Amino acid sequence: MTRGVHRLLARLGLDHGADRYAYVGQPGHGPVARTRAVDRWVRTTCGYCSVGCGMLLGVRDGRAVAVQGDPNHPVNRGRLCPKGLSEHHMLEAEGRLTTPRVDGRAVAWDAALGHVAARMRDLIDRHGRGSVAVLSTGQLVTEEFYALGKLVRLGMGLEHYDGNTTLCMASAVSGYKLSFGSDGPPGCYEDFELADVLVLWGANIADNHPLLVPRVHARDGQTVIAVDPRVTKTAMLADVHLAVRPRGDIALLNGILVALLDDGLVDLAAARRRVDGLDELLTHLATWTVDRAAAESGVDAATIRGVARTIGRAERCVFAWTMGVNHSVQGTDTVTLLDTLALLTGNVGRPGAAPFSITGQCNAMGTREAGFTASMPGYRPYDDPVARAELAERLGVDEARLPSQRGGAYPDIVDGVLAGEIKGLWVIATNPVVSFPHRDRLEAALRALDLLVVQDGFETPTTALADVVLPAAIWGEKEGTFTNSERRVSRVRAAVAPPGEARPDFDIFLALARAWGCHDDLFAGWTSPRDAYEEWRRVSAGRPCDASGISWERIDRTGGVQWPCPAGDGVPPAGTPRLYTDGVFHHPGGKARVFPVEPVALRDPPRPGFPFLLNTGRTVEHWHTRTKTGRIAILESLAPDAWVEMHPDDAAGLGLRAGDWVTVESARGRIERIRLRVTAVVRRGEVFVPFHWEDRCANRLTDDEFDPVSREPNYKQCAVQVRAAGPDRDVKARRARRARRSSAPAPARTARPAPAGDPR
Ligand code: SF4
Repeated sequence: MTRGVHRLLARLGLDHGADRYAYVGQPGHGPVARTRAVDRWVRTTCGYCSVGCGMLLGVRDGRAVAVQGDPNHPVNRGRLCPKGLSEHHMLEAEGRLTTPRVDGRAVAWDAALGHVAARMRDLIDRHGRGSVAVLSTGQLVTEEFYALGKLVRLGMGLEHYDGNTTLCMASAVSGYKLSFGSDGPPGCYEDFELADVLVLWGANIADNHPLLVPRVHARDGQTVIAVDPRVTKTAMLADVHLAVRPRGDIALLNGILVALLDDGLVDLAAARRRVDGLDELLTHLATWTVDRAAAESGVDAATIRGVARTIGRAERCVFAWTMGVNHSVQGTDTVTLLDTLALLTGNVGRPGAAPFSITGQCNAMGTREAGFTASMPGYRPYDDPVARAELAERLGVDEARLPSQRGGAYPDIVDGVLAGEIKGLWVIATNPVVSFPHRDRLEAALRALDLLVVQDGFETPTTALADVVLPAAIWGEKEGTFTNSERRVSRVRAAVAPPGEARPDFDIFLALARAWGCHDDLFAGWTSPRDAYEEWRRVSAGRPCDASGISWERIDRTGGVQWPCPAGDGVPPAGTPRLYTDGVFHHPGGKARVFPVEPVALRDPPRPGFPFLLNTGRTVEHWHTRTKTGRIAILESLAPDAWVEMHPDDAAGLGLRAGDWVTVESARGRIERIRLRVTAVVRRGEVFVPFHWEDRCANRLTDDEFDPVSREPNYKQCAVQVRAAGPDRDVKARRARRARRSSAPAPARTARPAPAGDPR
C-alpha cells in the first residue's frame, strides 16, 4: 500500500502498520480485511442510520480497534460511510457514564433502581398512573423495545410512553396506516435499482443515508427526480431537481395528479379496483389546476406536466421520502398523497415500483413493530377487540390489563409536564434538550419535573439535568436485532464489555421489573435478549410484521431476513422483499384508501423583523445530537462546527460575506454566533442550519408546532432574522475542549468472557 493509503486508513483508525494489514479474498465471499493486530472480527449491524449496513468489528485485547464493511451483507456489500468507518472509536470515546448516580452521588445499582421505583410509585400513588411518563428512542435493539413495552405498559401500568421516533418517522407510520391499513414500508432497496424512475422526495440520502446512493443510477436509463427546496448533494446527483417551495409539497403533488389525469395517464378503472375514496379525491382535484399548483409550489407548470408524464409513462416508479416530508405539520397528509400517487399509477407491490419511507434511526422500525407506543406489539391497534384478545392470550395476561389507548405522544408528554400533570419522566437513550423543537420550552419542562431519570451511554445536556442517571451499554456492547428501512432484521452483537458498571438496557429493564415487583409475572425465565426475541417471534405470528420464521440462525445464514416471514416453508430464505404483491391491503375489504388533501398556510411565515424561512437538516459526518459522533476525532475534524447557509443575493443585501459570524434569531430563541456560508444551494429568502450542535442549537429557533395526526414536529419551516454578530470569543475555549477530549483516556472495561461473536 502507498503511504497515502496508510495515512487515510490511519485517519479512519483502520491502519495498524504497513506489515500488519492486507486484504485477502475468500472463495465465494468478498474481500475481508485480515490483520494480526485484531484478535477476532465480530459480525454486527451499524448502529447509526436505518440503512442497516452489515459490518465487522475488530477486537484486540478486549477493545474495539477496527471496523470494516461486511462484504457478504446484502445491504451494503462491504461499503460503509464515514460514520460507519469510524464507529469503533465510539466505544473508546470519553464521556461515558460508568456509575449510577442519584442527586449527583454515585450509588450502587440496587440503590439507584430502588430509588427510581420508590419515587415513581410515590408519584403514582399521589397523582395517578398518568403522572409518570417514559420517552424512549430508536437506538435500542428490538428485544429491549419489546421488554420495555411490557414493563412500562403492563408491569408499571403507565399511561404515557413514547419515543424520539415520533420526532422523525411518525408521519410515515400514520400515512401508511391511513393508506394501506397498517404500518410497513412496501418496497425494498433493490427497487431503487430496478425503478425506471426514482423519485427522492425530501430525501437527501447523500448526507443522511449514504449507502443508498450506490443504488441510484445503478443501471443505464434510470431517471432520478429530486424534490427539495435546497440543491442538496442528492439533488446534484439527480437528472431533475424540483426546488419546491417549503410547504409546497402538497400543491406539487396535487398538480402532478391533475396533470396525470389531464393526460389520461391514470387507469381509473384499475384504480377503482385497488382503492376506496377515489371519487372524493377526483372531486377535490377538479378544484385544482396545474397553474395553481405551480403558483403555490414554486415549480413551473411545464415542469410539473413534464414530471407527471415521466412518472405516468414509466413502467416502474419508486417514490422514496424521508424527513423533508415527515418533518412537517402536514407530514401525514403528504405521505398519504405520495401513497396516492403510487396507487393511481400502479406502482405498488411490483419489483421497482413502490412508495417507500426511508426510516431515520438504526432501529426505529423495531420500536414501531414491537413497542407499546403508537400501536401494541405486532402493529395491533389498541381498539381492535380481536387483536386485543389474541395479544392477551399470547402474552398470558388478562385482556383488561392491556392499555386501552396509546397515551400521550412525545409533544403531549412535554405539554403534560408543563401543565403539571406529568411529574416524573424516564428518558432512555435520547437527548431532548438538543433534539426537541423550541428548546427553551423543553428545558423549562425538564426543570419543572419532580423526578427526571435519564438512562444513556454518554453524558449529555439532558443527563446534566437528571435527578437519577443510569449508565447504559451502547452499540458494540450488547446483543439483539435491528430492523432496517426495508424490513430486514439483522443481528447486533456484543464485541466488548461495557465500561465500569454500565449495563445493557435489557438488563436495566429486567432489574427495574424486579424492583417494581413485576419480573416473575412478565419476564419469568428470561436471562438474555434471546428470550425476549423468541417470545416476540410468537407474539408477531400472523401479523403484518410476522417474524415467527426469523430465527437468529436464519439471520446468520442470510445476513438478514425481511418480514413478513411466517414460520414454515414457502418464504424465501431472506424473507419477503415486497408487500402487497397480491394487491390486498390491510383495510377491511382489502382495498387501499386515497384522500383529498389541501395545503395549510405556515404558522410562522417570514415577515418584517423575521424575513427569512429557516430549514434544518443534517450533514453526513454527524449523527443526531453528536452524543457519539461529536466525540470521534476524525468526524469532528471533518465537520467541527455548525453553519448557516444563505443565498448570495440575500447576503449581499445584508452586507454579509462568506465566513462572517452572524446571529440567527426566531420568535423563540437565538443562535448568538454561527458562521455564514454564502451559497446558491439555498433559495432566496431561505436559510439552512444543521441541527446536530448543542452550542449552536437549531432547536433554539424551531417552532413547536406538530402534525395533528402523527404528532411529528414541524422542524423545517419557521421565520428567522439574520444579522452580523461579533467575533467568536469562545472559539479558543472550544478548541481546547476538543483537544482535551481527543487525548482523554479510554474508559476502563471489566474483563469478562468473550461475548458471542463471529470470529473470522
Ligand atoms: Fe451506518 Fe447508515 Fe453509514 Fe450504513 S449508511 S454505515 S448504516 S450510518
